[in-house]
Amino acid sequence: MSETAPAAEAILVAENVTKTYRISTRPHVVVDRVGLTVWPGELVAIMGPSGCGKSTLLHVLGGLEPPDTGRVVIGGAEITGMNEKRRTEFRREKIGFVFQFFNLIPNLTAAENIALPMRIAGSRSAHFDRVADLMRDLNLRNLQGHRPDEISGGEQQRVAIARALLMEPAVIIADEPTGNLDFTTGNEVLELLWSRCQEQGQTAILATHDARAAAFADRVLVMRDGRIIETIELGRRENHSAAPLIARLAQLGL
Ligand code: ADP
Ligand code: MG
Repeated sequence: MSETAPAAEAILVAENVTKTYRISTRPHVVVDRVGLTVWPGELVAIMGPSGCGKSTLLHVLGGLEPPDTGRVVIGGAEITGMNEKRRTEFRREKIGFVFQFFNLIPNLTAAENIALPMRIAGSRSAHFDRVADLMRDLNLRNLQGHRPDEISGGEQQRVAIARALLMEPAVIIADEPTGNLDFTTGNEVLELLWSRCQEQGQTAILATHDARAAAFADRVLVMRDGRIIETIELGRRENHSAAPLIARLAQLGL
């Protein structure tokens, strides 16, 4: 490293990550040589229009899909070098993933969906208090026994967020986590993610096309056609006003 070595180890490093899909036999580069370093406690937002590759990038960063080229290192471990079984175990331990389309289990109740990661980890009781706390924090208290098809899209989204937070993962990756929430509820969810980073040293990477959501981040990466074309440093702010971000995006013609 040529510059002064930073005090902390990066929690996530991506180098030269490329992902190509074949669409009717034509290769389509969806993530194009992306590099990224994220520090513990940071909240990073990835902004960009629909189809620019945000979800695909998050899936690669979170070890859900391998890239075609490049590497991803989380907490010092290269996930791109792991076989699928090992990567799945690693993901369960270190990463909480909030999917754009929630991926809840239809025949489990809201409480059971939230508790699922702890069932998988084989822990039967230790985290039950946490399930209740998360249901309270995310305003889901009355929905414990409801199945996903009995609750609204916004409620399903909050169940998915609670599930991702349950095991207190080092890295929270959230794909449009407020896409189905009204403004006030969206802000509450973002405040929760922000305080997890601020107070517990967890790290969050979220994709959004909404500048008001991205304004909660310390740093905003702007994506176009699979590339990160701009990095906007907002710094850690108690007030999450979107005005500086919107002004900067306008200056850059974005
Ligand atoms: P975003 O989240 O920014 O809307 P995505 O990462 O979902 O973008 O998609 C980027 C591009 O990749 C889109 O053109 C999409 O159609 C394509 N794509 C995503 N997933 C697949 C897949 N599994 N197979 C083929 N094409 C895909
Ligand atoms: Mg997406």
